[in-house]
Amino acid sequence: MTEDLSSAVAPARERPSHPPPCPRCAAPCWWNGWRLVNPVIADPSGTAARAEQWLARAKCSACKRSFTCLPEVLYPRRQYQLDVVAEVVAEVSLGDSSAAAAAREVGASPTSARRWVNWVAGLGSPSELLRVAAWIDPAAPVGIGLSRHAGDGVCARAARVLDALEQLGAALGRRGVALAMRSGLGRVLGWQRSYFGDVVSLVSEPKVLSPAMALGGAPRGP
Ligand SMILES: [Zn+2]
Repeated sequence: MTEDLSSAVAPARERPSHPPPCPRCAAPCWWNGWRLVNPVIADPSGTAARAEQWLARAKCSACKRSFTCLPEVLYPRRQYQLDVVAEVVAEVSLGDSSAAAAAREVGASPTSARRWVNWVAGLGSPSELLRVAAWIDPAAPVGIGLSRHAGDGVCARAARVLDALEQLGAALGRRGVALAMRSGLGRVLGWQRSYFGDVVSLVSEPKVLSPAMALGGAPRGP
């Protein structure tokens, strides 16, 4: 079950004295109000909880673009955050939970759970993810155990992608990449967003991970 943390404490409005530069043109920005969001996040024990919070908005002095300043722990345009999505997909594809039962645990609909499983299954090629993991950390024991998710069904495909994402997320962690999220899905997509500026949408049809993910697009940072 999701707990509702929003009614307990009014969320604080906190922001630094100056906004970050514009993500599009790097010009200085000014603060431009607030946005109240209501994401479902996984707390440290793995329990999904709705956590209402205020996010500062900024506006560019040059190109006039407005944007919301998101902390690293929040993935853009997602109510159900990636660690929660990963947990539901794991329960359906690796465990024996039905989509309805796994969805109920986090307060989502069965339709959402089925959509997440499909989305993860189409997110990328497990072998490509493992190649990136081996490239980032040549000592990584990549690929071990992937063959246990045999089959052509969507659950088996989602399980292989999730497993490969876990291995890539672990490789990133061992190489000192700062990772705000805990699941492989959250770590890999968070890393893509921080280092390459890519945001993958879960709303429409599955979009594979960006070309920046492919070998040859060297990750920046440690
Ligand atoms: Zn700008």
